[in-house]
Amino acid sequence: MRLNFDNRFTRELPGDPLDDSRSREVRDVLWSKVTPTPVSAPRLLVHSPSVAAAVGFDVDDIASPAFAQVFAGNALIDGMQPHATRYGGHQFGHWAGQLGDGRAISLGEVVGADGHRHELQLKGAGRTPYSRHADGRAVLRSSLREFVCSEAMHALGVPTTRALSLVATGDLVMRDMFYDGHPAHEPGAVVCRVAPSFLRFGHYEILAATDETALLDRLIEFTLARDFPHVDGSREQRRAQWFRKICERSAELAAHWMRIGFVHGVLNTDNMSVLGLSIDYGPYGFVEDYDPAFTPNTTDAQGRRYAYGRQPAVVHWNLARLGSALLSQVDESDLQAGLDRYAAHYQTSARAMTAAKFGFDVLDDGDLALVQDAYELLAASSIDYTLFFRTLAGTTIPDDFAAHAYEPKKFADAQPLLTSWLDRYAHRIRETDAATRRARMDAANPLYLPRNWLCQEAIEAAERGDLAPLHRLLDATAEPYRERAGFGHQAGKRPDWARDKAGCSMLSCSS
Ligand code: AMP
Ligand code: MG
Repeated sequence: MRLNFDNRFTRELPGDPLDDSRSREVRDVLWSKVTPTPVSAPRLLVHSPSVAAAVGFDVDDIASPAFAQVFAGNALIDGMQPHATRYGGHQFGHWAGQLGDGRAISLGEVVGADGHRHELQLKGAGRTPYSRHADGRAVLRSSLREFVCSEAMHALGVPTTRALSLVATGDLVMRDMFYDGHPAHEPGAVVCRVAPSFLRFGHYEILAATDETALLDRLIEFTLARDFPHVDGSREQRRAQWFRKICERSAELAAHWMRIGFVHGVLNTDNMSVLGLSIDYGPYGFVEDYDPAFTPNTTDAQGRRYAYGRQPAVVHWNLARLGSALLSQVDESDLQAGLDRYAAHYQTSARAMTAAKFGFDVLDDGDLALVQDAYELLAASSIDYTLFFRTLAGTTIPDDFAAHAYEPKKFADAQPLLTSWLDRYAHRIRETDAATRRARMDAANPLYLPRNWLCQEAIEAAERGDLAPLHRLLDATAEPYRERAGFGHQAGKRPDWARDKAGCSMLSCSS
């Protein structure tokens, strides 16, 4: 097993002189050397063939017992330099101080055959100086969810970190799933995540919070050189452009989340990537009965700060926190221009995506009422968000939507609304070629999503040693826009049993 490592982060940026994984506050450096803590019986459950190929593994590498050992943290390949990085963050609106990679261990940066850079990062491989009081581990339940969603998001066309592997550790991990005083042992696992960069807003914020201005300057220059190589001009221009790009990418990301009904669940600034990737899959979910106030995260059930409909505003708030952290480094007017750009770019992106969802070539101002009324109709009728759009691509007959409603009474009461809305819609599309419209809609509206209840089925089976439901879910979500025979279960609306079940409608941050 040989990979082409080029570890720029650890080579070019200062690291912790202490070589000790005890929890502590780390200053004046960006990373700490760590060693993954071995596990007892690593077993590869699934891997992503496309990520493996991009990184440079062949079929024999993956089949070898060494692969599971390496991606459980029990062994290293030549060139790996395991380390944990230092970052802070705003959590639920408040500055939380030093957080850092408490259970993520980066192994290094691989340059793939295509020239792309792939940082490999284990999640759940043991304690680091940033673990605080926690154990540095992850359970199978949350690791499987992260693996599945990373790969699904990629297939959905949503910028995301990827996942190379999911390895069961053979060890048990103690978790209090609902923070209600009932801790229990659960099987442990390690995911290897892959991204061009795992830099988060919090990496910059911590340096501003501690007045480490020279190091902040260095980190920005590093980020520009490694992760934004096409940005050029004077120092001032490069930094202005850089912040603007972060704002634009974040706007596109938020628009995609809204398009597919994704709720991240924990949009703290330490969970925001400077590359505009979806990162840190925890208590995420997909909107089913349409409700902008929906959040699957029970930890946020009171405030609903990170509810579905609030995401575009929260991303803007997070960008403003990043902007504040950059005040010593980027001209204030450029920061403001970036934030303004976010709002404009979100509007443009969301509008284009909404047009495609409804099958229009562009969304005219005259369409806004029709679109707004559709969302009200969805809320009133309890029709599944995802299945509404897939169905609308093929029919404007009200009865064809009945099977996709969660509450028959609500659907019946909303029948007049539905009928009149479908009439207006039919009128709007009367001059659009049906095949063109359908193709446009089916490319914007996914059919197969890693809905929480599907993940839960895969988790419960995997915990019993049956990986078949996980493989079915991965197969379905690998091509989320193309309907295929045999995947009716994965295309279905949420079954009744999942409505109020833990892990399906309610998830906590415990992972
Ligand atoms: P999250 O809510 O998963 O984004 O994590 C927030 C912070 O808590 C990050 O600094 C994580 O590294 C840390 N953290 C979460 N779970 C653990 C764990 N089991 N062990 C150590 N650190 C953790
Ligand atoms: Mg996080």
